Amino acid sequence: MAKTNSGSLSLDGFTFQESWEEKKKRAEKIVEILMKTHPREKLLIGDPYRTLIHCIISQRMRDEVTYKVWEKLFEKYGDIETIARTPIEEMQTFLKENGVGLWKTKGEWIVKASQIILKEYGGKVPDDIHELMKLPGIGRKCANIVLAYGFGRQAIPVDTHVNRISKRLGLAPPRVQPERVEDYLRELIPREKWIYVNHAMVDHGKTICRPIKPRCDECPLRELCPYSKGLVTDGDIKGSSKK
Ligand code: SF4
Repeated sequence: MAKTNSGSLSLDGFTFQESWEEKKKRAEKIVEILMKTHPREKLLIGDPYRTLIHCIISQRMRDEVTYKVWEKLFEKYGDIETIARTPIEEMQTFLKENGVGLWKTKGEWIVKASQIILKEYGGKVPDDIHELMKLPGIGRKCANIVLAYGFGRQAIPVDTHVNRISKRLGLAPPRVQPERVEDYLRELIPREKWIYVNHAMVDHGKTICRPIKPRCDECPLRELCPYSKGLVTDGDIKGSSKK
């Protein structure tokens, strides 16, 4: 079948041949299986501000440590007003004492982002990706996490698991940047299912499609996965990313 592209997204760079329509059908099946194998019991719609602070702390941190520090931070400081009033040095010391890496930068981000939300957004976290990305410490991944997990909006945060699994599954070319992976997923997956993608792929990435030695023999996506057929390799994915 002839290769076709979708909009600005190209099928060039993939290591195997498949039309856009075939890719789309495969993507839908993949998400359906992931939703069944990693169900989201209830949509985890939380507090956008707490989700945002969690995301700042979590950068380059293990989940368990992040969660403990995040809980402790809100136990100690309580709310956005208190956090915004906290001297940056004090927040930095709190993070440092609780084993947070990049404590200096993150302490500043937490206090300054809180001050900006209070001053410029009336104390409410903005529900717009571009506004969110203006806040210190909030890149595209965190902004999408706040939208998906804080507000319950359809968004696809691309973290390390989503990036790796999407490329192994051939839903994005192996060498593109995470922002580009998001573009491919948004195009291939029906919008009403976006909110499940991060959650399901993170679970899948921790249990089955692990960074090293993925357990393809046990994977329910095996039949739909070019990696399991040797058509995509980790060697294809590693190396310099390009746009
Ligand atoms: S078949 Fe292997 S590479 Fe493909 S999604 Fe499953 S575990 Fe990952």
